[in-house]
Amino acid sequence: MHKHIRPQAGIMEIALYQGGTSRIAGRDDVVKLSSNENPFGAGDLARQAYIRAGHDLHRYPSTDHAGLRAALGERFGLDPARIICGAGSDEIITFLCQAYAGPGDEVLYSQHGFLMYRISALAAGATPVVAPEHDRVTDVDAILAAVTKRTRLVFIANPNNPTGTMIPVEEIARLAENLPPQTLLVLDGAYAEFAEGYDGGAALVDTRENVVMTRTFSKLYGLGGLRVGWGYGPQHVIDVLNRVRGPFNLSNVQLDVAEAALGDAAHIARSLSENARLRDWLADKLNETGVATDRSHANFVLARFRDAEQADACNTALLAEGLIVRQVASYGLPESLRITVGDEAACRRVAHVIAAFMETQR
Ligand SMILES: *Cc1c(COP(=O)(O)O)cnc(C)c1O
Repeated sequence: MHKHIRPQAGIMEIALYQGGTSRIAGRDDVVKLSSNENPFGAGDLARQAYIRAGHDLHRYPSTDHAGLRAALGERFGLDPARIICGAGSDEIITFLCQAYAGPGDEVLYSQHGFLMYRISALAAGATPVVAPEHDRVTDVDAILAAVTKRTRLVFIANPNNPTGTMIPVEEIARLAENLPPQTLLVLDGAYAEFAEGYDGGAALVDTRENVVMTRTFSKLYGLGGLRVGWGYGPQHVIDVLNRVRGPFNLSNVQLDVAEAALGDAAHIARSLSENARLRDWLADKLNETGVATDRSHANFVLARFRDAEQADACNTALLAEGLIVRQVASYGLPESLRITVGDEAACRRVAHVIAAFMETQR
């Protein structure tokens, strides 16, 4: 750190976020299964909108995102006035921490929670606090026990990354009901679409003043590179977040492509059904070879090995075959590997390599 020119307290405690790797030297048949991306990419309607958006690059974008908010409202049956759009849901998380948590405040999340909660809390000068999970599942009682009078935000990803587990809406409602009056509950729904029959917590947002939901175009819609996410909350929260949001935080391209993706029913249906089918197939194959998994409600599977050493060795075996998965020691799970559900060929390759690896472990 510089002798005199110094950042705000907390900033230097932030460990740099490591994205999933995408290359292996000397191989051209690499499959990246480390960032929970859609194996089919973006849909045709999104790609066409991307080309069209090229004609308007000289124009400033909309500042209020009215078109995309209306489309989201229509698609999910929500009030567009209570939607805010950001550069990925990461930006919504950043807005929430910036607006509601500062020095002396606590930001609470669960043990294997998303790394951005800690990063955004520290960036805002707040103190990150971790509540234990029970067998890799969010534990509402443990969260409530960790709440103090300084807790301003509680983040829950449901389904959670990297565990893939989720808790029922009744449990989330119980958490919201029992939080102190100054605490806002954030439901991170990055994987909500993959959980059958789950609304991401939207109905709960509609009945409460202390619940916000975040969603993204990065996972199901295959637009991780585009950077579009959104939040839905009570009017008082959206009004606050709009004050810290830059007026041009999303480009024409982002707005138009996201809106097109929302209407691509065929791409959405195919992505969902292939994910559900291959996720269960992959989990079964892993279990047959002695690798345990929890039931996943997302687009990845968390494979649990005997210990960190075995997980490392399996990761090396996968890399040798051109398969990049995610090591999750930074999430407190050194004995596990998080594997994105790829297309059928990718899933077969993963199952094959892991089965062969487990044979060497007997
Ligand atoms: C991928 C992911 C996000 C989404 O990030 P974007 O900024 O929208 O790309 C949010 N939360 C969790 C838990 C995730 O895994």
